[in-house]
Amino acid sequence: MRYGIFSDVHSNLEAFTAVLDAFSRKKINRYLCIGDIVGYGADPKECIRKTKELNAVIVEGNHDWASAGFMDAAYFNLYAKKAVEWTQTVLSDEEKEFLRSLKLVYQTDDITLVHGTLERPEAFSYIFDTRTAQKTMELSNTQLCFVGHSHVPVVFSSKGGSLSYSFESKVEILPQTRYIINVGSVGQPRDGDPRACFAIYDTETKKIEIERIQYNIKVAQEKIIEAGLPHILATRLAGGK
Ligand code: ZN
Repeated sequence: MRYGIFSDVHSNLEAFTAVLDAFSRKKINRYLCIGDIVGYGADPKECIRKTKELNAVIVEGNHDWASAGFMDAAYFNLYAKKAVEWTQTVLSDEEKEFLRSLKLVYQTDDITLVHGTLERPEAFSYIFDTRTAQKTMELSNTQLCFVGHSHVPVVFSSKGGSLSYSFESKVEILPQTRYIINVGSVGQPRDGDPRACFAIYDTETKKIEIERIQYNIKVAQEKIIEAGLPHILATRLAGGK
């Protein structure tokens, strides 16, 4: 089984299309989406439509919830809040209902998905380091837990109680080791690399690869400006931050 895993599309259709093209060349059997389909970018409707088409397993992101009017955006920063308010005006009731219906956590025999952390999924806290990864590592019932939210791809691993992390893009899943994998962001990377980020997990070879792909940033930026969204949401895409 080959999983195509992605997170934080954030209404960036150009980045999402590039990632879907890449997936189509990788023999993917099942898609997993770790939340925040919408927010920040100018194409929430198309990004929702394309995600639905994948028949993906999807968990809830904080921007999805807020854009569906399910969560107060008061604690969002100014630009995120503006984007949430704009997205609310664009989405249909049906699209909002779809975003509202997503689950916070998804778990199979070997995989857990959560946008933020497992200790309080509805609080959308961040896993930034081994300290903030600790609780989710303990609470995960599966060897692999995929997360998003920080927009920074990173892999935490735990063996014999000792936790470490790595920014390696290729990870071999070892026995007696547990993992939290942040698959980065499709539509608004923040690790200094502006290319769209996604992951592939092959259950046969036991390998996870985090990949990057270039996309037409200029078009995504122009759409953000045309939509009247804050300019910083366009400019930050070029720096990947
Ligand atoms: Zn996000």
